[in-house]
Amino acid sequence: MKTFQIFNLGCRVNAAESNLFAQKLIDKNYQPATTNPDLIFINTCSVTKKANTESLGLIRRLQKKYPQAKIIISGCASLKNLKNKKNLKILINLQKETLLKKLHSSYTPQIADKFSHTHRFLLKIQSGCTHFCSYCTVPYTRNYLWSLSIKIALNTVKKAINDGYQEVIITGVNLDQYTPGLSNLLEKILTETDIKLISFGSIPVNCIDQKFIALLKKYPSRISNFLHIPIQSGSDKILKLMRRPYTRKIILDKFNLLKTFNLSFGTDIIVGFPTETETNFLETFNLCQQISFQKIHVFRYSPRPNTAAQKLFTRSPKISKEILKTRSQKIRSLTSQTILPSHQKPQN
Ligand code: SF4
Repeated sequence: MKTFQIFNLGCRVNAAESNLFAQKLIDKNYQPATTNPDLIFINTCSVTKKANTESLGLIRRLQKKYPQAKIIISGCASLKNLKNKKNLKILINLQKETLLKKLHSSYTPQIADKFSHTHRFLLKIQSGCTHFCSYCTVPYTRNYLWSLSIKIALNTVKKAINDGYQEVIITGVNLDQYTPGLSNLLEKILTETDIKLISFGSIPVNCIDQKFIALLKKYPSRISNFLHIPIQSGSDKILKLMRRPYTRKIILDKFNLLKTFNLSFGTDIIVGFPTETETNFLETFNLCQQISFQKIHVFRYSPRPNTAAQKLFTRSPKISKEILKTRSQKIRSLTSQTILPSHQKPQN
């Protein structure tokens, strides 16, 4: 029997796809292995320059360690700096998604999934993004939009419950572009299945609508009490330059609605975006302070190839490393130490 190993980098969408890929290999009589695999699948990431470098480093290490293995590379990393492409098969995201779509998002506990810790099922409901935030390369590597139908999503959740999963983690590249609407899907899962808990990889600000709020009110114990809502900045000037589809006021209005429930929040913040002044930074700092996030992922802006923000970065005065460091530390210092109930820990 042939063996395989999967290496996943980056977001939960990648993780969900890696699970599906593992299931596909099991269906073809491959067996998971921890050493000397015949086949290796690496799902790469390029969300930052560092993530891209890590992805390439991992490929090189595995090529060296397992020269006999067939290595399949997918994901978002740019492979142009990879000199030795021997033994590699490149599966671009679109090919990967076409292949995996046939599985209708389903996999079993057989894959011993390390991402969802066996009782949590990663349900990928959407793929692709055409939003083109000015700092992001995702729309260049995943611009094919796809949404899972509500019918298939319901069947998948029911099957996951039968397989012993107690929680579904809903994930997608940009859930704002999930065509049936996130709240509509959520309502169906809550009313038509017995899943104990629904949580999310992350939720775009604009997905917090009236229906979402009503569902939180009606099903407080079945929707995770930790929501990761990436805001990126609290400055209207920077949000506009980032091309984020909301303003500081919209963020505040949504969080004011959410604060009426017993919830904790996480977010992503980019510091040092081109032209960010001390005043702009303080707007972000004050907003984070006001919302009182339990967890904040702070990223220092890094220019990504061919993006609009890279052009802005090239022609703007540079923000020094010391300032970047201070701004990151200041935002990190805001993270509160609230302990969550043990059954609902935040996702990593
Ligand atoms: S919404 Fe913006 S940040 Fe998110 S994937 Fe799309 S372009 Fe990138």
